[in-house]
Amino acid sequence: MTADPLDILHATFGFSGFRGVQAQVVGRVMAGLGTLAVMPTGAGKSLCYQLPALARTGTAVVISPLIALMHDQVRSAEGFGIKAATLTSADDDRAETMRRFRDGDLDLLYVAPERASNESFRNLLQATELSLFAIDEAHCVSEWGHDFRPDYRLLRPLLDRFPDVPRLALTATADAHTRADILQQLGLPQDGLIVAGFDRPNIRYQISPRDGLAQQLKAFIADQPGAGIVYAPTRDATDRIATQLAGLGRSTRAYHAGLDPAVRQRNQRDFVASEDMVMVATIAFGMGIDKPDVRFVAHAGLPKSIEAYYQETGRAGRDGEPAVAQLFWGAEDFARARRRLAEVDETRMAGERTRLAALGMLVETSDCRRAILLRHFGETPPTRCGNCDNCLSPPATVDVTEVARKLLSAAFRTEMRFGVGHLLDVLAGHDTEKVIANNHNRLSVYGIADEEELKLVRPVARVLIARDALRADEYGGLSFGPSARAILKGEEPVGLVMAPKRERKRKSRDAQEHPHDPLFEALRARRREIAMAKGVPPYVVFHDSTLREMAGLHPTTMAGLAQVTGVGEAKREAYGEAFLEVLRGWQG
Ligand SMILES: [Zn+2]
Repeated sequence: MTADPLDILHATFGFSGFRGVQAQVVGRVMAGLGTLAVMPTGAGKSLCYQLPALARTGTAVVISPLIALMHDQVRSAEGFGIKAATLTSADDDRAETMRRFRDGDLDLLYVAPERASNESFRNLLQATELSLFAIDEAHCVSEWGHDFRPDYRLLRPLLDRFPDVPRLALTATADAHTRADILQQLGLPQDGLIVAGFDRPNIRYQISPRDGLAQQLKAFIADQPGAGIVYAPTRDATDRIATQLAGLGRSTRAYHAGLDPAVRQRNQRDFVASEDMVMVATIAFGMGIDKPDVRFVAHAGLPKSIEAYYQETGRAGRDGEPAVAQLFWGAEDFARARRRLAEVDETRMAGERTRLAALGMLVETSDCRRAILLRHFGETPPTRCGNCDNCLSPPATVDVTEVARKLLSAAFRTEMRFGVGHLLDVLAGHDTEKVIANNHNRLSVYGIADEEELKLVRPVARVLIARDALRADEYGGLSFGPSARAILKGEEPVGLVMAPKRERKRKSRDAQEHPHDPLFEALRARRREIAMAKGVPPYVVFHDSTLREMAGLHPTTMAGLAQVTGVGEAKREAYGEAFLEVLRGWQG
């Protein structure tokens, strides 16, 4: 017995239609076909298994890598009136959950991959009818993916034991290689691959060189409404930045593996529940949370790869509302990454080097950031997106080939072991102790740069390092990388992107995009009360976009409320009256 997916879409989730590839994916699962759905975060991935789980007979088993993530997902599902539970080592109610499962009293059962190899779990699955297997974060099954989890390899025998139960693998990031591998590893048919576009049009990408990070972060965050994440490269940096930002008048927390687990858990919970908290964290934070209303993600340093950047920035704006991704980078990020590269296994070296070069291009470009990202994932985007820093205020590019050649010559003449400070002294013709002691005042490059050129030496060094024309050792000593020769010979021009002056006194982003709406604020206040009373994050009650639509349509009856996107039956019943009270009482 199956129900009509469209009826469920409307009644349970409050949506009038499917978005993007959702219809295709749900259609395949309903037809019992194996499917791999590659969908960007925020494209409504979880609905692709939740809906068939409701429409088909039986219970859906959802495999997910992180316990915290499962708990968030269960809470969200329950908000829609879906019967869901987790079966993990962290749950005290395992016996109760198993009983509910056996009785067919669950629409969704979330489990971790390691459970799959457990014989008693396999037997448990025989006890009731299964509607489907959903394998979330499916890229974890592939060694080609950026997040390989050996536990995922245990899934295939389990899936094969239930050949008639459709399998749906889901991931937000997987390149062509990884996709092919997922299909094979999970026994999915070649034609079962459905790839949604990677574009996240509501995320604004901004990238700038680091220059007084604490001030840069403060200025950036002051402009951002709502909750956000600042990613720091190390635990120490995380603590330091959290302290620096504490004076901003926003609640600020830190999250890294060095914190007491109880503190970490509390910080994470507070963040999920908050409407404007700043979370400073290592990248360990975020994969395990399901918070749709993160308004910004800032990187204090270079991410590991474009895939990682896309995934980390993708945690912003999952509700589809405007969000910002800001990256601050420095030459030392590239230098450190290249040194780490030296320790990498020979077979992975070429791949890792390509990853780093792609990042270099992303941060250094004066072209559209989004276009570079999407091309990286094999798409053919328009050349301008209109929603990244370079599209919004096109920067000027200055030809700095001459300065680059002088700097490279100076590095070469000084035997490629000095840092940029000393090379600057040599190029400027300064008689420092170090210059004299090394006889560098006798070199042909001594004093060959003029005042204007000297100002450009440091930014040019940054560009050359990002491009792998210069490599920095751990003491800052600069030597040639593979692309140095062509530049030195004048075969490759070097351009420097000059960031446009930041206009101060600009209205805050929120004010531009959403004029202040007191009814929306009143609805938000009501949502806060309900969330607090129920002990759930505000977004589990309703998303901002739903409240905004509610404020716009201003319904005063249950029937009117039902027309608002995101208001399904369970939520209407649970919260309808409370919100109607605000709406009816509103004179404006
Ligand atoms: Zn753009």
